[in-house]
Amino acid sequence: MAKAKSCRRTIDSYTVKHISKTIRPGDCVLMRPSDSSKLSYVARVEKIEAADGRGGGTSVRVRVRWYYRPEESIGGRRQFHGSKELFLSDHLDYQSADTIEGKCTVHNFISYTKLDAVGNEDFFCRFEYNSSTGGFNPDRVAVYCKCEMPYNPDELMVQCEGCTEWFHPTCIEMTPEEAKKLDCFYCLSCSSEDQNKLQNSHVSTGHSDEKVDTKRRRR
Ligand SMILES: [Zn+2]
Ligand SMILES: [Zn+2]
Repeated sequence: MAKAKSCRRTIDSYTVKHISKTIRPGDCVLMRPSDSSKLSYVARVEKIEAADGRGGGTSVRVRVRWYYRPEESIGGRRQFHGSKELFLSDHLDYQSADTIEGKCTVHNFISYTKLDAVGNEDFFCRFEYNSSTGGFNPDRVAVYCKCEMPYNPDELMVQCEGCTEWFHPTCIEMTPEEAKKLDCFYCLSCSSEDQNKLQNSHVSTGHSDEKVDTKRRRR
């Protein structure tokens, strides 16, 4: 036989020396793109493997699952995609551990919207992405406002105190500045319903089962 096959072993953690950070499976990392004018790639580390080289050194590679940016997806970036949005893809790769430039956090959608401040290393993911079909999981998402768009966390929305539906200020003829100053907001249909209630308050009409349509349709 020629030479012995290099022996790969799975390791629990690895310290990337040039950034002095220890990575473990499950961590999200930024990886250096081959084209330095591009944004860093984002990946989730699935597995870390070490192999002893012939020269006595050890090479470490990571099995990664790529996150795609909306513009890298087949459907492209859409209006409701947030600037820090990523899709967890089914695209797996091996990369040298030394191409890791840093660690980052990919939040779920709810915890991302609750962040007090969004740092450079904060991202969010609400969809899994099939890189061969361009399909998403889930393929349906709640929509809001008169424009019936999924929520883009970068865009200001105001919530109606009556029906709890969310609206973009521009969709209800309001500037974002005006919307920020609001103490409490009732949408057009809720404020007209209030008027009706006042007018009919002397009549017992039993409107209780007539719920306001929240327009939270799915598509
Ligand atoms: Zn809208
Ligand atoms: Zn309302």
